[in-house]
Amino acid sequence: MVSLFKEKKNVDVLICGAGPVGLFLANELAEFEINFRIIDKVEKHPEFTKALLVSPRTMDILDNRQFNLHLSVLFNQTKYILFIHVFFLVSFRGLLHPFLEYGVRVKQFCVIQNVHDPSNPIKAELSNLNSNFSFGLINRQTKTMEYLIDALHEKKSLRKKHVPNVEFGMELIKYEEKDDHVIAVVKNTKNKVEEEIICQYLVGCDGVHSTVRKGINDWTFEGQTLNSSWALADVEVDHELVKYYQATFILHEAPVVFFPLDARKNTFRLIIKIGDEEKKNETNDHVTHGLTYEAHITLEELQKLLDERIAPIKMELKNPVWISNFKINERIANRYRTGRVFIAGDAAHCHSPFGGQGMNLGIQDAHNLAFKLALAIRDQSADVNKLLDSYEHERHPVGKNVIEGTGYATKMMSGNDFYTSFFRTRVAPILFHFFPQTVFNFQNNLMQNNLHYLPGSSEILHKYKPRSGVENKLIDAGHYVQDGLLMKITSHKFHELITMFDIFRSTALKHTLILFTLNKGVTADCNPLIETLLEIYNDYKNTITPIIISYQGIVHAADVPFMPFQEEGREQHIFVERKFELHEKYGVMNEFGQQAFVLVRPDLYVASAVFEDDVDELKAFLDQYLVKADR
Ligand SMILES: Cc1cc2nc3c(=O)[nH]c(=O)nc-3n(C[C@H](O)[C@H](O)[C@H](O)COP(=O)(O)OP(=O)(O)OC[C@H]3O[C@@H](n4cnc5c(N)ncnc54)[C@H](O)[C@@H]3O)c2cc1C
Repeated sequence: MVSLFKEKKNVDVLICGAGPVGLFLANELAEFEINFRIIDKVEKHPEFTKALLVSPRTMDILDNRQFNLHLSVLFNQTKYILFIHVFFLVSFRGLLHPFLEYGVRVKQFCVIQNVHDPSNPIKAELSNLNSNFSFGLINRQTKTMEYLIDALHEKKSLRKKHVPNVEFGMELIKYEEKDDHVIAVVKNTKNKVEEEIICQYLVGCDGVHSTVRKGINDWTFEGQTLNSSWALADVEVDHELVKYYQATFILHEAPVVFFPLDARKNTFRLIIKIGDEEKKNETNDHVTHGLTYEAHITLEELQKLLDERIAPIKMELKNPVWISNFKINERIANRYRTGRVFIAGDAAHCHSPFGGQGMNLGIQDAHNLAFKLALAIRDQSADVNKLLDSYEHERHPVGKNVIEGTGYATKMMSGNDFYTSFFRTRVAPILFHFFPQTVFNFQNNLMQNNLHYLPGSSEILHKYKPRSGVENKLIDAGHYVQDGLLMKITSHKFHELITMFDIFRSTALKHTLILFTLNKGVTADCNPLIETLLEIYNDYKNTITPIIISYQGIVHAADVPFMPFQEEGREQHIFVERKFELHEKYGVMNEFGQQAFVLVRPDLYVASAVFEDDVDELKAFLDQYLVKADR
């Protein structure tokens, strides 16, 4: 008889589930120095890989977080320039580093419509993506989870912060929400000992069968199981039509798709449609990882199916690592938050794997939620309820869009009705050929590269209209930040080049308040808005980092007698641009002659953007968003 005893432990956040979403959230909370635990019921992660594609927006987000200080020469390549920082021989290795080092860069889609003439496929380059990363990165999900666990260990050892280990073999059994805490009961799966964990917040990153979601009766997971049936295989294929740097679609009758798995070994993920079946009445319980798996198909059966589908092309499949057949589920939870309990990732939504978005969507849920939890836990939010509600209000519509977008893409690729076949075989090739922009827009939307939040839908985005009635070209609240090239003012004649994203890498654990000064000067003597910026900074020291971006050619440190933020022991916060590029990207136009403030959230979305005449509106917005620091 196993003895069961219970103990209570306090923690700010309990993360249930150490898949990619839970692990990313853990990394975020560690950055914000929040006291958390992360548990997973499995003793180790499975060997097979579900997600492959890391999207450009996810790469941006990973790139924004750096965890490792080490001596080296930094080659920092953006779309603007190759920087070589050799001066201090110190660089920061970002969370993205191992992904870029070991992942496979997919730079094009190749679509073969005619199996009798495969030598003339349609190719769509991924060069026009709305991101610094003009490729999709293929990285096995098992590796993604390994890198995220490594990153937690690095944080623990290098920064000596309190960062817990992932507790494998610990299952959430049930939980109960009280007024000011949640009591979670977890069980050690080996010795069956149960433990009560008292946490301020519980986040369910525990996949489609989420115990957290099922813990509350009216938390539903509505949607459908599609009636098409599919097979997938991670196999070796040696054929000139499938290449490691492209996703290959053979859309002859029913789709056959190859995604590269490895740059060197000719291994690919093959996805093939088997057929359509009568719709059955399915319940949530058939859903696994967003897909419904059925009896396993054999390699011989798969080879036969492939031969039939792509004849007269012949491709031999060898050495399978994983073969399965599956059905696609499209479901979304009715809510993402209930009081102190949240869900993120597959616990909140699942959809077709075409477009490779599930994990990316989940990681971006976690990115949105983490800084809000940190503000709430540190009592830095003026209205905790509004702040936490904004997680659902911002992310639920995104989940719905991805389900619709991937569902549409799946239908267009695989539907057998007259209109869909006509579109696929007749209209799509013309679109690809004559209107590449339409294709880029579709790709950008599918990969969530154009994603932004609508001010009207979120409580913590500033709905702004200039009082003066000037045309508002300022970047909208809810939009993702823009990158561009700047110069950092140094005391040498040499000006260090830096990008906006480099700056966010050092500021984005707080909000970043940018003052765009046009050419009106960066000293308090000549520009009264510098004082205003300082005033706001002094009010919100704990939550805001100020920076100044000026347009006035070259400025030397000697020209700037007043370095307002130096007393903090930081690098100066003043940057200059040579071309009028970033000002324009943020909508601060010369012709209006007005300077502007842009407040960027830690998740890199704009919270507020106002012209200098309306700075009081910014102050009022901050008043109902963040708590002032004690002076
Ligand atoms: C074939 C396939 C291909 C895909 N390709 C892509 C792709 O290319 N790109 C992409 O972005 N997405 C892709 N996806 C989707 C992606 O795999 C999922 O969206 C992603 O795994 C979701 O991560 P998660 O952390 O939310 O959930 P999961 O990965 O399901 O992790 C949940 C974790 O919670 C744990 N858990 C569950 N219940 C409990 C409990 N009670 N107590 C403690 N722990 C618990 C589980 O053990 C598990 O480790 C694909 C999916 C499939 C199936």
